[in-house]
Amino acid sequence: MDVTAYATPAPNAPLAPFVFSQREVGAHDILIDIKFAGICHSDIHQASEDWGSAIFPMVPGHEIAGVVTQVGSAVTKFKVGDHAGVGCFVDTCRVCANCLAGLEQYCLGHMVLTYNGVEADMQTPTYGGYSTHIVIDEGYALTIPPNLPLDVAAPLLCAGITLYSPLRYWQAGPGTRVGIMGLGGLGHMGVKIAHAMGAEVTLISHSPGKEEDARRLGADNFILSSDTKAMKAARNSLDLVINTVSADIELDHYLALIKLQGTMCVVGLPEKPLSIGAFALTGQRRSLAGSNIGGIAENQEMLNFCAEHGFGSDIEVIAIQQVNEAWERVLKSDVRYRFVIDTESLNA
Ligand code: NAP
Ligand code: ZN
Ligand code: ZN
Repeated sequence: MDVTAYATPAPNAPLAPFVFSQREVGAHDILIDIKFAGICHSDIHQASEDWGSAIFPMVPGHEIAGVVTQVGSAVTKFKVGDHAGVGCFVDTCRVCANCLAGLEQYCLGHMVLTYNGVEADMQTPTYGGYSTHIVIDEGYALTIPPNLPLDVAAPLLCAGITLYSPLRYWQAGPGTRVGIMGLGGLGHMGVKIAHAMGAEVTLISHSPGKEEDARRLGADNFILSSDTKAMKAARNSLDLVINTVSADIELDHYLALIKLQGTMCVVGLPEKPLSIGAFALTGQRRSLAGSNIGGIAENQEMLNFCAEHGFGSDIEVIAIQQVNEAWERVLKSDVRYRFVIDTESLNA
């Protein structure tokens, strides 16, 4: 079938209308009529080839929420009319130790990215959520609980899970002090989720205008990273810091906030290698770690957690025709706190 989309034809080129051909629904597949797609900073990194060479034309989008409109003959998890979501990958090898452990996000074989990837045949390019439809194996699609509106649910499929997974792994909860670096798409979900888990949350931002929002979203404390007095006062106070920053920064400055044996988990993926001074780790036996999105079961757990706590993402809904402008604003840290494309506008 032909699918209407927006694509970037070449690195750093503006997004423009594009039509691609999508496979027919197979026995284990479902067809999702995409209603909303979130804009992740990773879309911009990949379209700019920040992380290396990419596949063009590129239809970005790995925060997909929609309605199931067709199911294959062997499908058991979905029926027509269900709300379904798609995150950052649409298939993995299924046989490696990590896939078998439900940690598909760390697949040791071939992971089929939702876009800027190739299918298991290692040839067919994948196209993402800035489009009207997606066909996906039911095992890699998520059920969006009915009480979560699709627009606020879409960003959970990347921003939500990327924060939920490390917060769970490092056991954020009552009695733990969690720092979130950066109040963007990922960071604002980190504040909401860590708060809902019962942790004390400190937001560390380089934007002076975000304190009020941070507190409204659930932060107990706010530190402006350029406020040297406040940064000094908060030294050695946090158990876990999740670094969502997309740009090059002085990590030592932030590592000092972590207390004895605490951890900084990196999820932000800036273009250049991170640089740290060894003393920032050795001084308080601190750990520097990283985390990548989440597996299928954990994605479902996260969606259910958000639905139970009654929150999705804070969003600005846009028409696809505003996407280039929205990307510019993301680059300026000027988004409150996720842009979501209403894909109805693709039919305009
Ligand atoms: P975003 O909405 O642009 O948020 C990034 C935030 O970083 C900004 O809002 C800003 O927060 C802060 N920031 C930006 N430039 C900064 C600078 N020069 N100094 C200090 N802080 C700065 O982006 P996002 O969609 O949340 O994604 C964040 C990063 O995570 C990206 O690199 C993305 O590719 C990556 N990512 C990783 C995973 C994973 O699985 N590991 C998944 C998704 C995305 P303040 O204004 O509050 O300072
Ligand atoms: Zn993403
Ligand atoms: Zn695998």
